[in-house]
Amino acid sequence: MIALSLAEIAAVVGGQTHDIPDPSVQVTGPVVRDSREVRPGSLFAAFVGERVDGHDYAQAVVEAGAAAVLASRPLGVPAIVVDDVTKALGALARHVVTKAGATLVALTGSAGKTSTKDLIAQVLNSKAPTIWPEGNLNNEIGLPLTALRVAHDTQYLVLEMGARYIGDIRYLTSLTPPRVGLVLNVGTAHIGEFGGREQIAQAKGEIIEGLPEDGSAILNADDPLVRSMASRTKAKVVLFGESAEADVRAENVRLTDSGQPAFRLHTPSGASDVTMRLYGEHHVSNALAAAAVAHELGMSADEIARALSEAGSLSRWRMEVTERPDGVTIVNDAYNANPESMRAALKALAAMGKGRRTWAVLGKMAELGDEALAEHDAVGRLAVRLNVSKLVAVGGTEASWLQLGAYNEGSWGEESVHVSDAQAAVDLLRSELRPGDVVLVKASRSVGLESVAQALIETG
Ligand code: ATP
Ligand code: MG
Repeated sequence: MIALSLAEIAAVVGGQTHDIPDPSVQVTGPVVRDSREVRPGSLFAAFVGERVDGHDYAQAVVEAGAAAVLASRPLGVPAIVVDDVTKALGALARHVVTKAGATLVALTGSAGKTSTKDLIAQVLNSKAPTIWPEGNLNNEIGLPLTALRVAHDTQYLVLEMGARYIGDIRYLTSLTPPRVGLVLNVGTAHIGEFGGREQIAQAKGEIIEGLPEDGSAILNADDPLVRSMASRTKAKVVLFGESAEADVRAENVRLTDSGQPAFRLHTPSGASDVTMRLYGEHHVSNALAAAAVAHELGMSADEIARALSEAGSLSRWRMEVTERPDGVTIVNDAYNANPESMRAALKALAAMGKGRRTWAVLGKMAELGDEALAEHDAVGRLAVRLNVSKLVAVGGTEASWLQLGAYNEGSWGEESVHVSDAQAAVDLLRSELRPGDVVLVKASRSVGLESVAQALIETG
């Protein structure tokens, strides 16, 4: 991070210094909320959580070298005391990103934020020093903690912005104002909290509302609710997607024999071929979004295509492929699921499994409302049409819909089974798997099917 004195930090966050003998002491970072991540020169942000109170670690973090604690009460150790630690962190982040002068890229969407953030980060980082969050740090605490990592040589800062309510993203963009804002898609995630897709679109579009005139709003041409956000920004609008009018698009999209997407990338300034290392067709859209961002920031089609072809998965449980010593392949996509990514994952399984026995171990897709029955039925049917060898549907009612869909689609009898829970799935697979089999594991987050993938990997 950029070094700041305790006095400067206190002024920026409007805090009181307590037990600080020398306010000119420099905080050199990192700024952390987890006491185990404290290093000499750190600032420790103390949050009161449900089970732990960060303030209890004040003594320990100072002994570990923290320059001070950002706290909501005096602690008897060097502290900057504020009313609201979250807001203080936000104010500090705003100060630091302004001072650092890095170019900010912010993205949001219902599905694929973290995957796309990882793609953008790898593409931009192939060109110039880039900072991005690990995993899922996309809220009012994670985002400032990431932003505070910028250094003087940082060229690009890539931030994921999540929204639960209208106004969430407006707040995040007020802390770290992007030059490039990207909306991937508007799905049904958190539809219960929002009340409908229009409200979700309202919330997500906030990411482009504050963009400057010389900024870029990157929008998905294939998603009508995203496309229509164009009127909400004064920045240049750049469309990505399959649609012919997209500025950045893919032609000749196909899956390689190993299930990885390949396509010809078209940008306004040239075209180039991409073969991804990531699995699943849904990553084509994510890759186009990343390409549009990179193109706006001056990268050529060849540079972008090369970086996209080299980009790996940086976050866990997203089409994570493990080869067992006995020749069984486990594809762990248990992080989350929606109808679109289910279809993409099944297609990837079919491509990877040519000439091999394939297993789809699937659980429910959450938050589908009235569409739930039809969508689960359709996924079950698709598994049969793609010639997946065996479907193991795991869990309650929705799993039975998956299995019935498969059963009704065709000649399937014992090829589709319904088991009640993860342990039953593991028991079944342990006794049935043979060398050469390919197993896809996927469901919504709440099902927690990664335990199945993990158990199968350990068995081998
Ligand atoms: P969260 O809101 O839970 O953090 P996210 O938006 O960050 O999710 P990712 O973590 O990248 O999304 O991906 C979550 C799941 O969504 C993945 O397991 C994948 O199956 C699916 N997914 C990724 N990209 C897309 C996409 N473009 N369209 C549909 N589904 C996608
Ligand atoms: Mg995420």
